Amino acid sequence: MSTLNKKATTYLSKSLFIKGLQCHKSLYLHKYHPELKDETTEMQEATFQSGRAVGIYAQKLFPNGVEITYDDLSLSDQLDRTAKELERGTETIYEPAFKYDDIFVKVDILHKGEQGWEIYEVKQSTNVKEYNFHYEDVAIQYYVLKGFGLHVSKAFLVHINAAYVRHGEIEVDKLFTKKDLTDTIVEKQEFVEDGIRKMRDILKGEEPDIDIGKYCSKPYVCDFHGHCWQHIPEDSIFSLRDKGPDQFELYRKGIIRLEDVPVEILPRNQKIQLEGTLYKKNITNKEGVKEFLDTLWYPIYFLDFETIFMAPIPMFDGVSPYQQVPFQYSLHYQKRERTEIRHYEYLAPAHSDPRRELIEKLLGEIPGNACVVAYNKSFEARILNCLKGWFPEYADQINSIIANLRDLMIPFRRKYVYHWEMAGSFSLKGVLPALVPELGYDGLEISDGGMASMAYLRLWETKDPVETERIRTALLEYCKLDTLSTVRILEKLREM
Ligand code: SF4
Repeated sequence: MSTLNKKATTYLSKSLFIKGLQCHKSLYLHKYHPELKDETTEMQEATFQSGRAVGIYAQKLFPNGVEITYDDLSLSDQLDRTAKELERGTETIYEPAFKYDDIFVKVDILHKGEQGWEIYEVKQSTNVKEYNFHYEDVAIQYYVLKGFGLHVSKAFLVHINAAYVRHGEIEVDKLFTKKDLTDTIVEKQEFVEDGIRKMRDILKGEEPDIDIGKYCSKPYVCDFHGHCWQHIPEDSIFSLRDKGPDQFELYRKGIIRLEDVPVEILPRNQKIQLEGTLYKKNITNKEGVKEFLDTLWYPIYFLDFETIFMAPIPMFDGVSPYQQVPFQYSLHYQKRERTEIRHYEYLAPAHSDPRRELIEKLLGEIPGNACVVAYNKSFEARILNCLKGWFPEYADQINSIIANLRDLMIPFRRKYVYHWEMAGSFSLKGVLPALVPELGYDGLEISDGGMASMAYLRLWETKDPVETERIRTALLEYCKLDTLSTVRILEKLREM
């Protein structure tokens, strides 16, 4: 601490303030030990980029504003540019910067209304979430702008309207909902001042002695998770899946490793996991497996969709924000037991609506009497129901596929089959390495649905044919492996 000057202990930003609300230690580490942060994941980066894109899109609510970019300007340049725009009488400023009481904030949109300045904070969520610090996020902006000397008459949170359905051009005023938070924000000012005071006290002292807790991942996964959780072994109470006793309560009692957990306090599924991990115990309930297999018939079609699911701004007509839109499927099929397995697949080209071609091709491939197997069928059923809504002319055929869907996850979710390597998971990615170790996602460029969704969106951006080919190959490989995995898992169940 002796090396830190006073300025360093008082300076805060909006983001540091929010981190400090989640955990004082996180604030301290952000400020003095940023080198201990976890690496940003691809998914976090994608979420950040999507939030940025939503923020820029929301600027259309107040057209013809002036933007204070932060990409190529220092903080002081941003403050200067903002001051100049205010002097000039600019009535809408995007991303203006303010500093007061050694606190730096950027406002998404600042607009001069009839009564005074209005703050608009844009979020890509579909509602205002108190537990996500949305109120505090706006409250600290209000605190700084008011202290700076602006007359702020209103403060809004702008979020995505989940009920919006795109028809033609995006109607920006319908895509977004503006929620007036002014009264709550004004009430929160005392809380903000108090919070700032406490945070500055923390920053003047030694690193806070705060142990891990629920706040490490709520509302946001903390950037120092890896650092603070390094004393937790792999097989710990936190590796237990499903509902059970409060893990932090056990942790505070000193029960950390699985072998220390009194097995009698665990519900069935956790007990199975614990005994599996500790004693390498597997379960095969042949009756249960047979009961499941008896629900299947031939021909069997193994189906898996990939979808765009991170699109707050709907890309196509009839689609709502974040509604999942399928762009790819893989379909393995077998006419009879122990006969040849064949494969169909579809991956939509970028830059056009994938839905009609996808459903027409799929309906041409799955006969009406086929048994359709999916892993976690509720996902495939949901996508098929969406397709039915978009293409009601195919409702009967789609309904028959939905009626014939069977869920290969059932024997694993019900623990008819459990291998200790599954570590309590019954997801495809948990079950496959235990049952079919020769198949796996290691080495694939795309290894989960989130990556597939991002890869497809990259296809829309790239103009490089080599890159396009590479992404398409990776997507086809990944989706094909998903259904091939279900084929092999079913074979294993039959062997049982
Ligand atoms: S990981 Fe948990 S304890 Fe550590 S800084 Fe983050 S929130 Fe605080």
